[in-house]
Amino acid sequence: MAEESKVYIDGDLVPKREAKISVYDHGLLYGDGVFEGIRVYGGRPFRLAEHLERLYRSAQAIWLKIPMETRCLAAAVRRTVKANRIRDGYVRLVVTRGCGTLGLDPNKCPRPSVIIIADTITLYPEEYYRNGLALVTVNTPRINPAALSPQIKSLNYLNNIMAKIDGLNAGCVEAVMLNSQGYVAECTGDNIFIVRSGRLRTPPESAGILVGITRQVVMEIASRLRIRVEEVDMTKYDLYTAEECFLCGTAAEIVPVAKIDGRAIGGGRPGKITLKLLAHFRRLTKAAR
Ligand code: PMP
Repeated sequence: MAEESKVYIDGDLVPKREAKISVYDHGLLYGDGVFEGIRVYGGRPFRLAEHLERLYRSAQAIWLKIPMETRCLAAAVRRTVKANRIRDGYVRLVVTRGCGTLGLDPNKCPRPSVIIIADTITLYPEEYYRNGLALVTVNTPRINPAALSPQIKSLNYLNNIMAKIDGLNAGCVEAVMLNSQGYVAECTGDNIFIVRSGRLRTPPESAGILVGITRQVVMEIASRLRIRVEEVDMTKYDLYTAEECFLCGTAAEIVPVAKIDGRAIGGGRPGKITLKLLAHFRRLTKAAR
């Protein structure tokens, strides 16, 4: 029988069945906490330093003190990956506000909880990577950064979930969210790029996006391939008239887009530049193995 997976909770590796947290945890009661999703290639967490940096920044932004140093948290992630014998997989790193009273006050939660899950992952079927997926632009706007910055990767993902529901109801697995000005922001769990005149275009941070780590990796690959990248505001017009389009994120990696709002993009097939970037991305993650 396969060995049961183990989950890291506050310093201990506990069997999955026993990995439980209190119903008084404000992570559950209010979505009060932060998280990261990290890929594991060849047993090694990919871009761990960047993910940890973002996690600590998210925590700082919500006045949450992660109860361990970066170095120790990195070691805990590696320990959990090893304990579960994950070669190619995914880590979910969560820091909740911890247990408190039935009120919002975070000061009533004396100890944040650190949870690390290491598991396998398949987000999309291989067919999407070969043929591209269909997107739809949805009515749910990306939350205004003045209300809650999308840079905070918090446990409250309802804004994205509402958009995901809109997308699923329209028959699409991913949805494009616009910001409150009507410009393209991002998808519910991925950043978006288009190709225009051989150059990459992607919304800037000021469009109210989570600045993705995979987005950064795409930019690095593009720079190596001497493909220019422009961070500019985009409208639906830019999407509809794009030569190519693709999404990127830790879980999705790089996935080509074939259709947006029923309109074929680049003839409805993954574009040349997208496929080149995807091939380089796969080489990069293979080398990390
Ligand atoms: N935008 C949102 C809303 C996300 O949830 C994610 C996934 N974390 C991304 C973009 C992509 O970010 P990353 O490449 O860092 O996973």
